[in-house]
Amino acid sequence: MKNKVDRFFRKNLIDLIPYRSAREEYVNQGVKMILLDANENPFTSSFNRYPDPMQIKLKNCIANWKNVNENQIYLSNGSDESISQLIMAFCEPGIDNIITLPPTFGMYKVSARVQGVEVKEVPLDNSFQIDTQLVLEKSNKNSKIIFIPTPNNPTANNFKLKSIIKIIQNFSGLVVVDEAYIEFSNSSSFVDSIKKYSNLIVCQTFSKGQGMAGARLGMTFANSKLIAYMNKIKAPYNLNSLTQSAALVRLGEQNLIKKQVKIILKERKRIENALRKISFIVTVYQSDANFLFIKVDDSNLRYQQLIDNGIVVRNSSKNLNCENTLRITVGLNEENTRLIDVLNNIDRK
Ligand SMILES: *Cc1c(COP(=O)(O)O)cnc(C)c1O
Repeated sequence: MKNKVDRFFRKNLIDLIPYRSAREEYVNQGVKMILLDANENPFTSSFNRYPDPMQIKLKNCIANWKNVNENQIYLSNGSDESISQLIMAFCEPGIDNIITLPPTFGMYKVSARVQGVEVKEVPLDNSFQIDTQLVLEKSNKNSKIIFIPTPNNPTANNFKLKSIIKIIQNFSGLVVVDEAYIEFSNSSSFVDSIKKYSNLIVCQTFSKGQGMAGARLGMTFANSKLIAYMNKIKAPYNLNSLTQSAALVRLGEQNLIKKQVKIILKERKRIENALRKISFIVTVYQSDANFLFIKVDDSNLRYQQLIDNGIVVRNSSKNLNCENTLRITVGLNEENTRLIDVLNNIDRK
């Protein structure tokens, strides 16, 4: 019997026989074996063995944390790798396309282009919300994935739940909801909804709120059939042992993360209030993330003035409909105070 989600798979990958290490069958059953299968150096150090290709221990903890099954989780070397693997898994180069909603996160387009997959861009409306009607009009039968980052990068706002649900219910391909900034948002996660919608994929990351950008760990949640297919085409050792053990430690520190998020949100409010008093800042947009998106009189000038004062922000002006905008990450209390002082000094000149 053909399952509904099978139609998303690339036809030439359906009968692919994945690379298997014999290790998967033995180590994961907890039996102590003599391991002479992988040409490793046998002298024990923390890292002489290959990592667990299926990341069983880590997935078990993440499953408890997110209230999903282990077979609904795919782990990757950052969300970046997941984005690339999703396009590889579901888009036929030269035939299929993906939909993005600019201004948006840059990796979707780069990843698609690198793999020879067309990108159809459907601009957000004047309030940086999704034009759902236009999305459905512009997509066709070869539109295999739509990428929806919420809260959005670079514009910092959440998209309306209603719009996202309308797309999940009406888009013919897969809907990837990228929740990189979910820790900072008032909006609830879509992870629970993977049980309801077989075409929904939710990405989260350890890079932002979880404070582990250097470790590279992305989490992708979806219907178990989609996840099994993702696992089939992944590099066997995509997640190294250092990252897997660091993440296990971090999962035990969620109270600390909650405290940090609280502080970051308080600091965001403080910066926001200060920015509103600066005359060359035209707009401070509503933020649901750990950064502020602002419109200024002259972004190149203000960007350079900040650089001259030792502060690096992101000049986001090259994005569609983002003329004269800057994206500013919320830093530590003293860093934010310095930012505010520098902006006030520039303003007084
Ligand atoms: C930062 C960010 C990511 C994170 O990517 P990683 O590879 O996990 O570091 C993903 N999506 C969006 C929208 C982001 O802003």
